[in-house]
Amino acid sequence: MEDCLFCKIIKGEIPSNKVYEDEYVYAFKDIEPAAPVHVLVVPKKHISCLNEITKEDELLIGKIHMAIKKIAKQLGIDEDGYRIINNCGKDAGQTVMHLHFHILAGIKMGEKLV
Ligand code: AMP
Ligand code: ZN
Repeated sequence: MEDCLFCKIIKGEIPSNKVYEDEYVYAFKDIEPAAPVHVLVVPKKHISCLNEITKEDELLIGKIHMAIKKIAKQLGIDEDGYRIINNCGKDAGQTVMHLHFHILAGIKMGEKLV
């Protein structure tokens, strides 16, 4: 989608620190890491947020999670663990309107919100 930051990153129009890529998914380092490991995992298809997924995206959501598993192993964080965060909408603080999952790891994380 035009004027979408993450679509531009996926197309290579804006540079990124790529961690993983396959047919469906692109993953890159967050520019402002909130933990020693902070990776963003995004579908190549533009979907603005979780509210917008449809029945036809069911497979894609599975692909994203399979990619997260592979990335965790690739980065060596699978044993110690990691946290996945998806911010949807303004109360969650979503700033980029292209569906993305944060992988946070490399530090013992604090309290959970839920
Ligand atoms: P969210 O607040 O969930 O929408 O997350 C957006 C994330 O994108 C933030 O953690 C930003 O640091 C990150 N971000 C913004 N611009 C870039 C960029 N050009 N490259 C990598 N990460 C970015
Ligand atoms: Zn996009």
